[in-house]
Amino acid sequence: MPPLADPMLFDPSFELTSSLCVRPFKPWSVQSSAQLYRVDGWGAPFFKINSRGNMAVRPYGAKTAPNDEIDLMDTVHKIVASQDNITMPLIIRFPDILKNRMDTLQAAFDRGITRQRYAGRFQGVFPVKCNPDRYLIEEIVSHGRRINFGLEAGSKPELLMVMAAMCNASTTAFLICNGYKDAEYVKMALAARSIGLNTVIVLEQLEELDIVIKMSKQLQIRPVIGVRAKLSTKHAGHWGETSGEKGKFGLSTSEIVQVVKRLRKVDMSDCLQLLHFHIGSQIPSLSIVREGVSEAAHIFCELALMGANMKVIDIGGGLGVDYDGTHSSSSDMSIGYNMEEYAETVVEAIKEATIQKNVSQPTLCCESGRALVSHHSVLVFDVLSAHKNGGSACDRGVSYNIDGLPEALAYLRDDLVRSVDDGDHECILTCAKKLKYESTRLFKQGLLGLEARAAIDELFEIVSVFVDQKESDANMDQNGCGDRPGSHKASSDYYTTYHINLSIFKSIPDSWAIGQLFPIVPLHRLEAEPTERVILSDLTCDSDGKVTTFIGNDKPGAETAKHLPVHELEGDKPYYMGMFLGGAYQEVLGSLHNLFGNPHVIHVVPSKSAGGFRISKFLRGQNLANVLCAMNHEPHLMFENLKERVDGYLDGTYEKEITAETLMSSFTSYTYLAPERSCAFQLNKSFYP
Ligand SMILES: *Cc1c(COP(=O)(O)O)cnc(C)c1O
Repeated sequence: MPPLADPMLFDPSFELTSSLCVRPFKPWSVQSSAQLYRVDGWGAPFFKINSRGNMAVRPYGAKTAPNDEIDLMDTVHKIVASQDNITMPLIIRFPDILKNRMDTLQAAFDRGITRQRYAGRFQGVFPVKCNPDRYLIEEIVSHGRRINFGLEAGSKPELLMVMAAMCNASTTAFLICNGYKDAEYVKMALAARSIGLNTVIVLEQLEELDIVIKMSKQLQIRPVIGVRAKLSTKHAGHWGETSGEKGKFGLSTSEIVQVVKRLRKVDMSDCLQLLHFHIGSQIPSLSIVREGVSEAAHIFCELALMGANMKVIDIGGGLGVDYDGTHSSSSDMSIGYNMEEYAETVVEAIKEATIQKNVSQPTLCCESGRALVSHHSVLVFDVLSAHKNGGSACDRGVSYNIDGLPEALAYLRDDLVRSVDDGDHECILTCAKKLKYESTRLFKQGLLGLEARAAIDELFEIVSVFVDQKESDANMDQNGCGDRPGSHKASSDYYTTYHINLSIFKSIPDSWAIGQLFPIVPLHRLEAEPTERVILSDLTCDSDGKVTTFIGNDKPGAETAKHLPVHELEGDKPYYMGMFLGGAYQEVLGSLHNLFGNPHVIHVVPSKSAGGFRISKFLRGQNLANVLCAMNHEPHLMFENLKERVDGYLDGTYEKEITAETLMSSFTSYTYLAPERSCAFQLNKSFYP
């Protein structure tokens, strides 16, 4: 066998290696980053990149003065400095963004009503299933008092929560009872009405009518009833499957007619006052809004003409969020309209139907969830480590020692050297693939050593990355956009995996469950070009625990990106990233997979005196004892067990003490990783309640 000692090919200083490893210089600025991550598209007016290259929050939206902007890196530093043992991940809430969204929605409908000279008013409700966090609900109720904002419940626990919360709401605010109901649910709703909460029982199925009639007679409380109509209007997106005549929810036209007749019979026609419908979440276009609202408005008018006491039309949720920043009506991840246009369309469609049928114009209610709360929270996490998938040989320099190669491989290697000389990229790649394939085959038969196989694997990496780089450069020259941001190695199959301190199943469940995209952006270093292309892999021992699709596009014509451009990690310096627009559904849908618990939550508000902002609330995330309790384990019994073992197993008093202390303190530690760079845990003996 001829020795493999071609210094040209395997010398680390060989041109093939070095030509890739030098990156062309590109001018970069925070504007380039803003464009790359489409921050204006999905983030305006609340998020931007500031001149320090950090992500910043504008808590008052368009009305935010430069002094009121909050640097997200400053908030992370402040919380880490102000609390013991704080490590990532972390949810940062901005209550002012939430208030801004409520006000914007109200203002949009108020303007629509004025412009259309509509006779009714607008009163929103928040569907608590979207985010049932106590402080968020309290914020909505207290801020909503001025505008008669109410709440919507879809289950008994939600109803109880909503009833208690609404004791502090305006008395005209609606308490909407949706969801499937039994006698217990109906009794609770009637009790709510009897204590002066403006409660509407919305019939989701025909069977519920009998329960309502029976219970209201029994408790001697006159109900206000709504019906949920099953519309024929459908939207085609992921969230539209519940709509249409075959949808899961609501009453058909014939069932609605039966409700009216039945109520008339028991002399309760005056109780039927509201028509509800819900086309589905994340409605992509105004044409669907217009069609659905018109259909419902005609049902509303017909009910009024049949003698029901119709006063309110509740248009459900569905107002969308522009997750990918493209303002497009053809994608599930975007919407082709804004709040103002949405409101205008709704008011106009209802007005037209009422004029046509000569019915008095109802109060407008909407149950927007996603659009109200998505923006107000930011999930912050750090990167624990990076694993290069190919291309890393370049950074290491090729180093190995080969004594000989089987003849077949030597030929293939010579072919490769020749193709490199010829400069035909396709041929180079074909030769490299053949060489790799053959070496793997021989290795499996025991005919090739590990070092020789490693050498060929590394060579293959280098050649592939090299070819890839050349092709992407050629593409860019062709497209005449040589400085397209982040287009480095644009056609490469090579990428790095960033291991993130997070559980996808806890914090971004919709990314796993339905492939939803959220904007994910580094929180700092944005003045510099992100030179890595990564996928994100989480802490769980689950192959689905990763993010491999991102907003943006890394290939011309693609709708999404397979890799996220980020910066290279710098030693053990922390690298912080943010997931935005996750304030709706993610927290409550998150699961305890692998027992990763709730992250810490902080509330941040602007403050003139405290350097721009202050932390108004800190809610520590779940510790080990908390998540174990959730699975019926009893931490104090577990500890007793372990303590007994320690005492029986170890001899020295000191060893016993240290071990018991280590075990005890572990119960109160955070479920996520505390990287070495952050301060060590302090022993803490006070986890017993
Ligand atoms: C989920 C839901 C909503 C909220 O929908 P969004 O798309 O988040 O606005 C409103 N109403 C009903 C009946 C729902 O089921």
